[in-house]
Amino acid sequence: MFDLSSYNTFNLHVSAREGIEIKCTEDLLALDLPLSEPYIILGGGSDVLFTEDFDGLVLINRILGIDVQKVELSPSTLPLNELDQAELFYEVRVGGGVVLDDLIVGLLQHGICGLENLSLIPGTVGAAPIQNIGAYGVEIGDFISSLETINLRTGEKRIFTHDECQFGYRYSIFKEPDFRSFFITHVNLRLSNSFVPQQNYAGLQSNEFKDAFAMRDRVISLRNEKLPNPKYVGNAGSFFKNPYVSKETVEKLQDAYEGKVPCYLLEDGNYKLAAGWLIDKAQCRGLRHGQVGTWGKQALVIVNLGNAKPHEVVALARYVSAEVKSKFGIDLVPEVRLYGKHGELAWDQI
Ligand code: NAP
Repeated sequence: MFDLSSYNTFNLHVSAREGIEIKCTEDLLALDLPLSEPYIILGGGSDVLFTEDFDGLVLINRILGIDVQKVELSPSTLPLNELDQAELFYEVRVGGGVVLDDLIVGLLQHGICGLENLSLIPGTVGAAPIQNIGAYGVEIGDFISSLETINLRTGEKRIFTHDECQFGYRYSIFKEPDFRSFFITHVNLRLSNSFVPQQNYAGLQSNEFKDAFAMRDRVISLRNEKLPNPKYVGNAGSFFKNPYVSKETVEKLQDAYEGKVPCYLLEDGNYKLAAGWLIDKAQCRGLRHGQVGTWGKQALVIVNLGNAKPHEVVALARYVSAEVKSKFGIDLVPEVRLYGKHGELAWDQI
């Protein structure tokens, strides 16, 4: 058995039948491909919940290396984000096992900006595109020019362009069952030396940031104020996604809550609600059920208060979503990926 305790930031004591750390592309090609099911790929294990022991193989991405190339871009190859104001552009090729925050620091030390709002998000660079992780108005997908992968079904290398990744809110094509066999070996980012502060979010608005380091410092202090550090308190970040709802739903809620419901207009006319606010108003902030709870400063985070068992985390998540459903009629769906005995599970399968 392979102990997964140190491979999931919930710090749950679960195991897999077998686990292998992948340190280079050749390690993958040396496997007996196609791999027999079930198998799963892990990065930092910061966005997963094992609901029980996993009866399969876990491949852990530990491919390292950061390669920075300055590039000349013609206007037609430009903007993945707001790069058109920049003077120098870089293609950065990163091993999927590099810790995301280490990458952010390393880039800033070389004067390369763009990812600073993602500071302190736990996890690896290879896992980041799968969920299209985001924070404070920035998503990793905005900077990804391509992904290098190996298909574990065939052993073939395949490059996915930015468009082929189909990035959306906490979504990419790699969440679809047919694409779960693609192991992301390297991530190619297009970045620049131009600091364009993204400060739409509360806590960032009133400040003037002299450089990207200052933005990083502010984001770190905001996160430290509100979020539990997984080194000390097991958790997987936001447990649920923020629900997207219609204008009519928002209007009804605003009537009921005197216009105080935090909501954000989306491009398609729908609204994003803050799941943390819904959970709070459903009286589920700072709950404690046995060894699990919801975090007092951010109810969206479910925490392991000591020696929690997977079924306790599942039960609390179910309880919270049922309370929100009963109070608001809104379904919460997990942002964390769920794994059972035979592989990935949908929310309605656990
Ligand atoms: P918050 O400020 O309490 O806001 C609650 C939610 O409202 C956020 O989740 C955010 O959605 C949304 N929001 C706030 N201001 C917004 C704006 N100006 N425009 C659009 N949406 C806005 O959130 P928080 O808990 O302190 O988190 C701050 C940021 O860190 C958020 O972006 C959050 O996603 C990110 N974060 C991510 C994780 C993770 O596990 N992925 C964990 C903790 C925090 P979005 O979530 O869509 O941004």
